[in-house]
Order: sequence, then C-alpha cells, then structure tokens
Amino acid sequence: MDGKVKVGFEAVIGLEIHVQLLTQSKMFCGCENRYGSEPNSRTCPVCLGLPGALPVLNAEAVIMALMLGHAIHGSIREVSAFYRKQYFYPDLPKGFQITQGPIALVEDGWLDIPGDPEVRTTHDSVRVRIQRVHLEEDAGKSSHEMDPEHTYVDLNRAGVPLLEIVGAPDLRSAQEASGYLKALHHLVTYLGISDGNMEEGSLRCDANVSVRRVGQTAFGTRVEVKNLNSFRFVRQALDYEIERHIGLIEKGEPFEQETRGWDAAVGTTRTLRSKEAVMDYRSFPEPDLPMLVIEHKEMAIAIARLPELPEIRKKRIIGSYSLTDYEADMLLQSRAFADFFEATAVACENGKQAAHWMLGEVSRTLNERGQGLGQLDLDPQNLGELIHLVETHAINLNTAKEAVFPALLAGEGTPRQIVAQKGLTQVMDQSVIEALVREVLAVHPEPLAQFRAGKISLRGFFVGQVMKAGKGKVNPQIVNEILDETLGKP
Ligand code: ADP
Ligand code: ZN
Ligand code: MG
Repeated sequence: MDGKVKVGFEAVIGLEIHVQLLTQSKMFCGCENRYGSEPNSRTCPVCLGLPGALPVLNAEAVIMALMLGHAIHGSIREVSAFYRKQYFYPDLPKGFQITQGPIALVEDGWLDIPGDPEVRTTHDSVRVRIQRVHLEEDAGKSSHEMDPEHTYVDLNRAGVPLLEIVGAPDLRSAQEASGYLKALHHLVTYLGISDGNMEEGSLRCDANVSVRRVGQTAFGTRVEVKNLNSFRFVRQALDYEIERHIGLIEKGEPFEQETRGWDAAVGTTRTLRSKEAVMDYRSFPEPDLPMLVIEHKEMAIAIARLPELPEIRKKRIIGSYSLTDYEADMLLQSRAFADFFEATAVACENGKQAAHWMLGEVSRTLNERGQGLGQLDLDPQNLGELIHLVETHAINLNTAKEAVFPALLAGEGTPRQIVAQKGLTQVMDQSVIEALVREVLAVHPEPLAQFRAGKISLRGFFVGQVMKAGKGKVNPQIVNEILDETLGKP
C-alpha cells in the first residue's frame, strides 16, 4: 500500500482515543494505579464490583481532564454526570462501565496538526475539531495467549481512569490520522497526564473511516477499526481500509457499517461485528455518584498545574533564541527535553548554540544508547559551561565534541576540570601555530610542490596535518590564516 488515496476519491477519518491517566489511584477506589503488578493484586471491593461497595470519584482524574480540556481550547461543562453502560464480559465484574453520558466534561476543542500535502491543496496546518473529552473507567484485561483452553482475567486495570477523546471526521488520509494521534500523544505526555506508553495500552485508538467520491458532500459508509495501539498500525489499517472501500465503491458493491479489527500478522482488517450486532447498553445515570460540578476552585487548580503550553512555548523560544520552526519542534519533543534546552541556553547565554548541542551531540548520544535524557549523566550547567568554553575560545569545537563531551558523560568532572586535567586548552598563540605550519610544510615537500604547481585541493590536507600536529587543540581560524599567508596563492 503506497498510502496515496486514489484520484477521484476522498477518505474521511475520525479517531476515538483512549488515554489512561497517570493518577496515583484508580478512578473510583483507592487501589494503586500501576501497570505491571502481580495479576489481581491491585483490586478491592469497589473495582471488583462486590455488592454494597460504593465508588468515590478521584479528584486528580478530574483535574487532569480539565488540564487537557484547557490545552485543547475546549469548553468545560460546569455540570456533567456519570452513567452506567451495561454489558456482560468477564473483565467487567460489575456488569457495567461507569462513563460520562450525553454531556461530556469537555466539549468543542481542537488541535492543529500538519496537513498531508498528498490530499490537501494548502501547506497550512489543519485544525482537527475535538467533539468531546469525557471521563470513564477502564475494564480489566482478558488474556487467551497463555493457554488456548482457558481465558485468564486480570482486574488490575479495572477502574483505571481513562479519558476518551472523540475527534471530528476532519482527517483526510491515514498519514494525517497518525499525525493527529502523534500530536495528541505529544500533548498528553507533555502535560504529564499520561505516560503515553502505547505498548502497555496507556494510549489506544479506534479509527472510523469512510470514503466518498471527490465533490460528494454526504459521507460514505463508515467502518470502525478497533483498538489500534501503534502509529504504524493506524496508518496501515487505514490505508488498507481506504483501498478496500474504493475497490467496493468502484465495483458498485454495497457494504454495511461495521466494526473491524486489524490483524497485524496478516496485514488486513476483518469483521468483528456487523451493524445488526450493535449492542444496546441500556445506559442510565449512575445512582451512586453525584453530578460532577466544576467550580472555580477545580479550574484554578488545573490551570495552575498546566505548564506553558507547547504551542505558546514554541513561539516564545523561536523569538528568544532565534530558532527555526524545525529546531523549535525538535526541542519541544518532550517537556523534559525543552526544559533541559532552556536551562542550558541560560547557563551559556547562547540559545542557538544550546539548540545545536541538544539536537546534535546530545540527541546523537541518546539515539546511539537508546536512552532518555534522564539516564544521561549530564546536566544543563555542565553542558552550558562546555558551550561557553567554545564560545570564549578556551577550547575549539573539535576538542569540545571529541574530548570534553565524552569525558563529561563519563563523569570525569566539570568541563573546566576536564580541560585542565587533559591539557586541552586551545592554542591561540600565533608563533606556536606558525612553527607547526613550518614543520608540516617541511616534512611534506611533495604535496607542497604539487600545491605550488596548482593543485589547490591539497590545502585541506595541510590544514588537517597542522591540526594533527597541534593535537587537535589549535585554533582552526588562525591555522587557516597562517596557511594562507605562508602558502600564498598557488
Ligand atoms: P457513534 O455514535 O457511533 O459513537 P459518533 O458520531 O460519536 O458515532 O462518531 C464516532 C467517531 O466516528 C468520531 O470520531 C467521528 O469523527 C467518526 N465518524 C463519524 N462519522 C464518520 C464518517 N462518516 N466517516 C469517518 N468517521 C466518522
Ligand atoms: Zn479498587
Ligand atoms: Mg460516539
């Protein structure tokens, strides 16, 4: 699948995203909200659905929902409520899921994402409307893998707080859909309300897709692909579905609205349930929980907990540090990365160089080691000092990258200490460098003769030899100047 929508057709996509919140405890009980514990060890009468147990709403989950609501410019409902969505499943011991009903805590927000140039006529970003964000609880987890004869149920996840984020059908290609999911993933992790770990199921999505002929205003028949838990699966499943729909439309074959699943091993989707099998959940207001009333106090707490929003921070750092749009995006890859960058910029009083180091040596090291910033033995003060040493010509850039930075990571001291211990101070002395140049020219008579005969490409060779003779510590500008004077024009 090449990911291009066939000419004459248009795909319409809307995502429903589930995000697990990083609260201390579960949504309606005091059980610890933690992934990876002994199965069924984090349960209590409330999340096990034992008779008589009463739910109590987790205020932290509400604050986190308000934080996201504010960040997506949504309107916050002052009064909303919880409902019981009833169905039977082994991982749902209560026999119902508590979820918000017709009126969600947050409505009418939006998120700007880069548009897919393959399907858009402009290069501007695309505004994806978010219809609603509501609170609900997660179900437990059934597994069939361990043993084909039995189903195992782990209820540690039962009652974990979730946000369901329902996006409008504003996306026009699989690439755009995965771009939107990435933008949302970035936002919730940046805000610190979710760890966003898709492999562990902290963020998962159902993708609704339909296809219509270009120019047609009515939507085509929609299919929902359930439980996609990686950006790649979203792209692959949607590309597959779009092509399948186009094939059916071209053949004039009618098809029905249905729910499908993505089979990653085979690379196809297949029917999970058809429209006739749509369940009636017989939802009704949860009698054991009061209405959710948001007052000034809750809103104030949520706003106080919000960091400077990425979109605002981006504009500010571009202006304050003369960064490009691309650099700003890269620096804002996570809040921790951006914080580290800004602290470094302050320490060395040079934002542009701090950006170069963060996106250069620091990123390269993280990629090579497969580590996060937190695992690196580096702090903004030290990195700032290193940059400062280069900017003040105490060491040259080459020495900084090749000798001081690795020693810094190895914990050998502060940049100044390392430079002193290893004798790495930059050689700026004209007479010392002149002597090195003379020495290099004396031991390379052949290249010198060739250079004088017009082979000017040998100039770089001489620069390299002088740098080498100076153990990499000489100032490259001065080397160039002296070489120019000494060699003259060929
Ligand atoms: P439901 O009532 O079945 O949950 P919603 O109207 O709430 O349906 O929409 C669910 C999701 O499906 C939303 O993310 C929405 O953007 C998307 N959606 C709705 N209609 C279409 C369509 N025709 N094509 C693609 N996505 C759609
Ligand atoms: Zn519990
Ligand atoms: Mg819906």
